[in-house]
Amino acid sequence: MDMVITESQQNWRDLARDFAKRKLEPATEWLEGEQFWDNATKLADHGFLGLTLPEEYGGMNLNLFDALLIIEELCRVCPTSGRHAYHASMGIASFINHLGNEEQKKRYLPLVTSGKLFVSLGMSEPEAGSAATDITTTAVEDGKHYRLNGSKVFISDAHLADLFVVYARFGNTGRTSDIGAILVERGTPGFTIGPNEENMSGEIQCALYFEDAMVPKENVLVTENAFKKLMGVYNGVRLGFLSQTLGITQAAFDRTIEHVNQRKQFGKEIAEFQGVQWMVSDMYVQLETARTILYRAGEAASDNKPDKNAVSVAKIFVAEAAQKITDTCIQLHGGYGFSKQYPLEWYYRCVRAASIAGGTLQVHKNMLASSVLDRKISQRK
Ligand SMILES: Cc1cc2nc3c(=O)[nH]c(=O)nc-3n(C[C@H](O)[C@H](O)[C@H](O)COP(=O)(O)OP(=O)(O)OC[C@H]3O[C@@H](n4cnc5c(N)ncnc54)[C@H](O)[C@@H]3O)c2cc1C
Repeated sequence: MDMVITESQQNWRDLARDFAKRKLEPATEWLEGEQFWDNATKLADHGFLGLTLPEEYGGMNLNLFDALLIIEELCRVCPTSGRHAYHASMGIASFINHLGNEEQKKRYLPLVTSGKLFVSLGMSEPEAGSAATDITTTAVEDGKHYRLNGSKVFISDAHLADLFVVYARFGNTGRTSDIGAILVERGTPGFTIGPNEENMSGEIQCALYFEDAMVPKENVLVTENAFKKLMGVYNGVRLGFLSQTLGITQAAFDRTIEHVNQRKQFGKEIAEFQGVQWMVSDMYVQLETARTILYRAGEAASDNKPDKNAVSVAKIFVAEAAQKITDTCIQLHGGYGFSKQYPLEWYYRCVRAASIAGGTLQVHKNMLASSVLDRKISQRK
């Protein structure tokens, strides 16, 4: 269909598709260790680690929509590489790009775009998930440092990261205005990364612990009116995650089309059965609608900052569609879909995360309702 993209966007998509075909192995699990860093070098060599970052730091200076197209194509073949590309451009590294000072950008962004530095986000805490403003990690001034105390949970890829964007309270009024963010390097005294914890999709997440961790003051990212700014940047992370989800869903769909066209039962290909044809059509409608809504959110981003309602609409539709589509893909593979010998069940487990990570669907529905009804709706008692 592709009625929503321009010729130049089609060219970016083709470039990513061609790169993925030639340079990436089709993956059926998350890549770790040497494989991860080998692919990081390939991605960096082709400019894919820093899609939306300025050229002076090794980025491609693309707009967010173009970046979404590229990430989707990479994820269609190798979700780890697509995820790395979004982390490094419109994902966690974009906190430094949008909120960091010149010194911080010069110090960290060239390392990100050259595939030498991975950055993770430390926001969620044991008692502050959906209620992100309830975080209790503190950053207290102490000479030339901030002294950090607290802990974080569910931090994706913390085992790969050497730098963390950490949300903390810089004041003690108890208000949201206390919240800011600071850059914490691996190896900082008093900062420890918990053991690897495998989630449902096989991705690694870790807890982070700060016990009088002394972080230099020059690492402060933002403290003034910070929460709103941080959540503004976080919307880019959300879109990147949805592109990943769409790419993985497309991979499941591609394999399913191949399967139903060659699998025979009752003496003919199962694609010959009307029951199967209608399932394929329903999936296609969901997939194309999800894509159009996500691209619309990419289009609605100005200065690479997405519109928050467009993000919530995309989040709700894409996450739900991805779940339904990958579920149908398993169904159309029969026992092979349920088997671990085939990647369908992995795709299904991967896209399940989209309904939780980056704010749950319910939280996005709350935010959307508040905007549509034009009412400040408090979730508190
Ligand atoms: C794959 C994955 C990767 C992640 N990566 C990171 C990361 O890198 N960094 C990071 O900081 N965090 C990360 N997270 C954490 C993620 O941000 C939280 O899991 C998410 O915000 C939900 O918080 P919670 O898990 O504490 O659930 P809770 O907030 O306890 O929610 C539990 C249930 O209650 C519902 N609920 C809560 N409040 C409301 C309400 N007001 N109205 C209606 N329903 C409500 C929720 O929708 C949910 O269904 C990741 C999570 C996942 C699954």
